[in-house]
Amino acid sequence: MKRKFIFLTVLSIFCVLSCDRASKPVIMTVNGPISPADLGVTLTHEHVLVDFIGADSVTADRYNADSVFFTVLPHLEQVHEAGCHTLVECTPAYLGRDPSLLHRLSLASRLHILTNTGYYGAMNNKYLPEYAKNETAEQLARRWIDEWENGIDETGIKPGFIKIGVASGSLSELHRKLVRAAALTHLKTGLIIAAHTGPAEGAFDEIDELQKSGVSANAFIWVHAQAEKNYEKHIEAAKSGAWISFDGYYSGKTEQYVEMLQNMKSNRLLSRVLLSHDAGWYHVGEPGGGNFRNYESVFKELLPALTENGFSQQEIDQMMVENPKQAFQIRVRKTTQ
Ligand SMILES: [Zn+2]
Repeated sequence: MKRKFIFLTVLSIFCVLSCDRASKPVIMTVNGPISPADLGVTLTHEHVLVDFIGADSVTADRYNADSVFFTVLPHLEQVHEAGCHTLVECTPAYLGRDPSLLHRLSLASRLHILTNTGYYGAMNNKYLPEYAKNETAEQLARRWIDEWENGIDETGIKPGFIKIGVASGSLSELHRKLVRAAALTHLKTGLIIAAHTGPAEGAFDEIDELQKSGVSANAFIWVHAQAEKNYEKHIEAAKSGAWISFDGYYSGKTEQYVEMLQNMKSNRLLSRVLLSHDAGWYHVGEPGGGNFRNYESVFKELLPALTENGFSQQEIDQMMVENPKQAFQIRVRKTTQ
């Protein structure tokens, strides 16, 4: 009797421990799940390879994966050297997403890399497959959830976030459907939604559509928020809970970025900011992959400029480490109402 009691006690302790382990938050990289604490300094919006040919013609046969690997690797090694630990690769399906290539590059460069699920509707829907125009939000969500549950194509590699794209201005019916599909996928998977968006009008439409589907603005990254020149809109969106992604940084943009970040700081909203270059990439169809913009300017120019302008190391870490760690955690974020 006593022995049975001990057995049951040990069994229940084991259950508590393993349940606890199961509920620990993770971030999904192309090499599998990692603890958010291991994410480190993160560039939240970059590209390794992009093919602009269009959804009707895009295929992995259009480039040599080995050539791309050897072209891109030195850039990833350089940014790793500059202090970066994780790179979020934002190229969606039908625009050159290649999880196997990212997996190889991640192992060789020792950078964590995240890939995505979802479809890109901006640029006149050139990157949407035909079926995406006709299927319902539920059908699209089922495809994206399947990538989360079973891996992308035959690779077994899982997405670490949802990437969609919408055109500037008020959302079309088709793009509203993409947002609804992203909401349904989020509710099932806990993957955050990064949406290529222009100025604020589209972003507020997206937040509205997500909330109508029961998803909190916390699950939404307003990608390319720097396109909005009225900085009050950044504040308004951040106060609603959205992540504000200033992700087009290059040398000539220091003054604008310092201004936008000072505005966020004076409103005590640095805890909603993500920073990146939207740089790279191997341009499929161009000799040698064309002109490759490196991933280092944030480290070599923007962060030093922020320090000169009174930003503390803690504030920089907030944007480069803490915010990505919160944003990319797999966690369902529902509206409270
Ligand atoms: Zn991009």
